[in-house]
Amino acid sequence: MASACSTNPEKATVKASDWSVDRFADIEVLRYEVPGFEQLSLQQKTLVYYLTEAALWGRDILWDQNCKYNLSIRKVCEAVYQNYKGDKNDGQWKAFEQYMKQIWFANGIHHHYSNAKFKPGFTQEWFVAQAETLANEKPNDDVLRAMFDSTYLTIKVNQADGVDLITTSAGNFYGEGVTQAEVEKFYADKKAALAKKLGDRIPMLGLNSRLEKDENGQLTENVWCEGGMYGKTIGHIVENLEKAAQYAENDQQRIVIESLIKYYRSGDLKDFDTYSIEWVKDLASKVDFINGFIESYSDPLGMRGSWEGMVNFKDSANTARTEIVSANAQWFEDHSPIDDRFRKPVVKGVTAKVITAAILAGDSYPATPIGINLPNSNWIRAEHGSKSVSIDNITAAYDAAAAGNGFREEFMWSDEEVQRAKKYAHYVDNIHTDLHECLGHGSGRLLPGTDPDALKAYGSTLEEARADIFALYYMADEKLVGLGIMPDMEAYKAGYYQQMMNGLMTQLVRILPGDNLEEAHMRNRALIAYWTLERAQKDNPSAPALEIVKRDGKSYVRINDYAKLRQYFGELLGELQRIKSEGDYEAGRNLVETYGVKVDPTLHTEVLERYKKLDIAPYKGFVNPRYEAVKDAQGNITDVKIIYNSESYVEQMLRYGREYAIGE
Ligand code: ZN
Repeated sequence: MASACSTNPEKATVKASDWSVDRFADIEVLRYEVPGFEQLSLQQKTLVYYLTEAALWGRDILWDQNCKYNLSIRKVCEAVYQNYKGDKNDGQWKAFEQYMKQIWFANGIHHHYSNAKFKPGFTQEWFVAQAETLANEKPNDDVLRAMFDSTYLTIKVNQADGVDLITTSAGNFYGEGVTQAEVEKFYADKKAALAKKLGDRIPMLGLNSRLEKDENGQLTENVWCEGGMYGKTIGHIVENLEKAAQYAENDQQRIVIESLIKYYRSGDLKDFDTYSIEWVKDLASKVDFINGFIESYSDPLGMRGSWEGMVNFKDSANTARTEIVSANAQWFEDHSPIDDRFRKPVVKGVTAKVITAAILAGDSYPATPIGINLPNSNWIRAEHGSKSVSIDNITAAYDAAAAGNGFREEFMWSDEEVQRAKKYAHYVDNIHTDLHECLGHGSGRLLPGTDPDALKAYGSTLEEARADIFALYYMADEKLVGLGIMPDMEAYKAGYYQQMMNGLMTQLVRILPGDNLEEAHMRNRALIAYWTLERAQKDNPSAPALEIVKRDGKSYVRINDYAKLRQYFGELLGELQRIKSEGDYEAGRNLVETYGVKVDPTLHTEVLERYKKLDIAPYKGFVNPRYEAVKDAQGNITDVKIIYNSESYVEQMLRYGREYAIGE
């Protein structure tokens, strides 16, 4: 068998300084590489090119969805930004420049993650004076109020209990005066009527429209489609999709693109379902994409889809790795250190693909997910399945940036751990994810009669811990080297150290002083790490395999015996499987409460202080590469060039604003 170990572990050592593009407020902007683009065929490159154009055209739809004043605010701010001739060290200017960069990053005036409205650090007087002299533009009262009144449009998505979530959210998904109760009744009625006709196969209602009141006060959907709301912009998207369809790799992909065009034209959600089903069926194509109203986190009622785009192609070498893992699922099950009664006689691995992102757009830009699992429609998932992908070049860029930020040097015990992380961390992270997702969750079985919900509120933490410990146990197995998945018997140590350091110490940077661990993944990591720490102390108090030691007043995780650690992980895997298989609630609760919830306040304070000194941006996002079509005299594309370094964050934002303006 050809070695699947073709991802070069050295890849993660790209210097962060080459890829970090901008830094402001709580944000760092990075570049990402698109390895493999040059090796695509001309047809595939051309397909990527037109899909990329279709993706970039959706940007202003998202801006308008996020808040109805966003585009007006951006227009006047960009005019000020580009025409300002004054002192660039002036405090007002500096605050304005930061604000400009923040709203670009957030696709509007609300923070992309917290949803809170940005507070300008410059005065309204200064801004109005600049706008009048520089932009020939007197910002209207609505724009000024949206920017400067801190009591107005305060939060994009309100999730607070006990208030009207529609009228208190600043997003632009609902018209003036529409209340939550009215929206809920409108869709309950619609759903009931449709259920008679369609049964469970009801489309995701409200996904592609703004719900407004007409002149008679009746609720009506203003549909986002060609000929409807955002019609001109959607026309540009459709135009590029039509060109893309001519370069489809195969018939199924052409059907996917054509059914998306049909949906953009009709605005009919049944057409969207048809498109989604065709998209799930397209497994053979190298190039794939997302383009449309997809995720609904920005609607407080979770119905309306924010516009999102991404173009990608399959990372064949890394996908081959996940396929090898899946194909050997039975071997892993048979050799797992668990009681025979809890073993699955026949196990089916889940196949997931690894992709390379070629462009990020709409709700995926500049902040982006590292994995995608679509479609969201429950009935389509149940009947037709879904596609699960992880985006390798994005995680590689995160890792490359992390390699240069001083975090490892600050928290790792010695240079040995730092060097090992530099060499293997990105690679081992991917293997960990493969083992966790493709095998870990699916391994083992319940004893007959065990209630699957027996572990109740502790169920998700224990399940994540079980999948993680499965991955940890196996990443140190020589079998993985034999399969060509791991490069050598050194690499897993980077994974072990990372996991222990994170679970025992460094994940504490994500919670506030005085807080307990609440989130299931954080609890699971603490559970594994603190259980193992205690096990090691008891086993050998004078020379434990794992310990927390002090040097110059700072705490460090030290691993003295990696092989021993693996043995403990095997024991914990056996126990976690027993708890799940038997539904032993008391034992599960005890594990979580003892090891996974409480925080040592002294250690927490120390970790927070050390982290603060590193000045690491908590949020990251990306600028896109630029694609340039080379055309012959007849206008045919003869090559597509990818250009990484042609523009800064600011230049890209201004160019997108110029070239892909909503125009209506
Ligand atoms: Zn999981």
